[in-house]
Amino acid sequence: METTSTPTHCPYCALQCGMNLSPTPEGGVEVTERVDFPVNRGALCGKGRTAPAVLSSGVRLTSPLVRSGGTLVPATWDEALDRIAGELGAIRAVHGPDALGVFGGGGLTNEKAYTLGKFARVVLGTSQIDYNGRFCMSSAAAGGIKAFGLDRGLPFPLEDIPKTGCVILVGSNLAETMPPALRFFTELRENGGTLIVVDPRRTRTAEQADLHLMPRPGTDLALALGLLHLVVAEGRVDEEYVRERTSGWEEARAAAMAHWPEHVERITGVSVPQLREAVRMFCEPEAAMVLTARGPEQQSKGTDTVGAWINLCLATGRAGRPLSGYGCLTGQGNGQGGREHGQKADQLPGYRKLDDPAARRHVAEVWGVDPDSLPGPGRSAYELLDALGTDIRSLLLMASNPVVSAPRAAHIEERLKSLDFLAVCDVVLSETAALADVVLPVTQWAEETGTMTSLEGRVLLRQRAITPPEGVRSDLEVMHELAARLGVEKGFPTDPEEVFEELRRASAGGPADYSGITYRRLVEENGVFWPCPAPATPTTPTAPTASAVDDDGEDAGLDVFPEDPARDEAGPAQPGAVLPGTVHPGTPRLFLDRFATDDGRARFVPVSHRPAAEEPDEEYPVFLTTGRVVAQYQSGAQTRRVDELNAAAPGPFVELHPRLAARLGAAEGDPLAVVSRRGRAVAPARITTGIRPDTVFMPFHWPGEGRANTLTNPALDPTSRMPEFKVCAVRVEAVER
Ligand code: SF4
Repeated sequence: METTSTPTHCPYCALQCGMNLSPTPEGGVEVTERVDFPVNRGALCGKGRTAPAVLSSGVRLTSPLVRSGGTLVPATWDEALDRIAGELGAIRAVHGPDALGVFGGGGLTNEKAYTLGKFARVVLGTSQIDYNGRFCMSSAAAGGIKAFGLDRGLPFPLEDIPKTGCVILVGSNLAETMPPALRFFTELRENGGTLIVVDPRRTRTAEQADLHLMPRPGTDLALALGLLHLVVAEGRVDEEYVRERTSGWEEARAAAMAHWPEHVERITGVSVPQLREAVRMFCEPEAAMVLTARGPEQQSKGTDTVGAWINLCLATGRAGRPLSGYGCLTGQGNGQGGREHGQKADQLPGYRKLDDPAARRHVAEVWGVDPDSLPGPGRSAYELLDALGTDIRSLLLMASNPVVSAPRAAHIEERLKSLDFLAVCDVVLSETAALADVVLPVTQWAEETGTMTSLEGRVLLRQRAITPPEGVRSDLEVMHELAARLGVEKGFPTDPEEVFEELRRASAGGPADYSGITYRRLVEENGVFWPCPAPATPTTPTAPTASAVDDDGEDAGLDVFPEDPARDEAGPAQPGAVLPGTVHPGTPRLFLDRFATDDGRARFVPVSHRPAAEEPDEEYPVFLTTGRVVAQYQSGAQTRRVDELNAAAPGPFVELHPRLAARLGAAEGDPLAVVSRRGRAVAPARITTGIRPDTVFMPFHWPGEGRANTLTNPALDPTSRMPEFKVCAVRVEAVER
């Protein structure tokens, strides 16, 4: 057992709060305060504080399980790994490599996400890989790339928020999803700034707002267009900024002018005086921000909705300037890093595109393979899950629980059951692992080292603090062993720092360039913001660590930069070359000089309102929207194993307005059935005036009859392929007790 306190980070959300882990006499760890990390300064929510409970949970898996005679039974590691390799090899021989699906998670470290993408493409040869982060932030990523040429959730650090003049927070309940972040908004208001919250529910976050706008679910796009219309009509456009730093304004302006405030009021339910007040609050200060989260993003028009909010920022000169900008509050722990390094269907490491010949050449060279051997882009997450049991015959799944978290979950559960073979790596027997043919028990956050990239784009080192229990192995070891059994003996190291050194080289010259980052810098500097290109020659502060040196004695990360052709072909994403002998400091603030587009200008995208894929009708007259509660995290696979969290949030509920409850004859706690075209869920009523009368809300952390995702609609955004989690039509029925 390690004996000293270890500075590290929380295993859950993208805020990646700093914490210390100190050993206990019983051989476990306890969380202690770590005030030197500037994001949370020691503060933690209940999830982070109780995270060690999952390490020693009684339901922790410590032996591989193999299905035999219909039952999962304990097996040796060799038996389990041989079974997986044998099944994958046999299916590939009969059906081809694309019959092998791979599904990752937004909680995987950068090293694991990178290795999983490489494993899929180099070892399995399949294009069929994606990850659950697609369900998190893909619309914001697509919108950011369209407008700015680059996606990094926040293009500025959180510490800028208290210094700006106004923040519009769209569809984020961060008082419950990441409570320590609330202090930035409290400080904003203490400094004289204002907070506008857009949410159909009066959440704990909305209660902090100076102005709370409660639009009908699925109408955030119209709301943003109405605000832009008023910006134009009231002469608040920053003409000089638009002329100097943007393109495409006339088309976007014309689209916005078609959305009269009165028309927007009818669509959204937000009154014209409230629209005018929001415009005044946003435009009067010198600086302002718009931050979006899953509310506007998890829609079948999520990319356009993000585009509309970005247009508002651009028209008012609130992007690429100090203390101003558009940002996305990424949700999952490594949702940001997970989308940068290759587990996404269309990506290669460094946020490169899989269909870009120069990117393929660069990454193939790092991997030591023929670029032509790399498969092309595959299906998005929902489309991949929906194809299970058809042309995709097997699935290797890491760090995800789609039986609870996927939209139209009952259907996805059936698709998983229809597979020829399912292998799952997890720490507990999640609802998805319980369906598997082989389950591999893997290490957790405190038992392994690896990097995470927070919602700020800050790369962090999460350090091992405790020895893993007997019987578990890391995901990196799993991929190393499977690769060897499938005939690839080299290229899948088990040491995370060795993987990171390769990731540095693979990312060099890409939009998400990590080549100037080392583990040592991450410890010494408390994280580094990407892009952080390597210098042309090593200098003292970035001298290579032992594992950064290749077998031939050359530094692995620092010598690829000058003659790397992919760097030249990667376009203008980099914030400037790094002179020999200097160290790139990282990039906390993006776009201050230019945007990452070919001409350096931000691009307006002309967008127009359209209805949700499913609007209420006679049969399904009410909106359903879903979300999180403070004491649970995502599918609950970890947090539902913590007694204190279960006591605080024991199960699902249906939040509804008293008027709707009265129509149903329902009292607080009465069981209610919520029925959509996909299925039926039952949970007790929670009655509050803090929700629109036409809307019900369910949290999505639980399986079984209260599973909210039984109901949700998998209608996909045409660009991001994000499912429409946040709005569908349901009817609500009273149920006999
Ligand atoms: Fe962990 Fe997020 Fe809670 Fe911070 S806010 S302690 S990162 S779950």
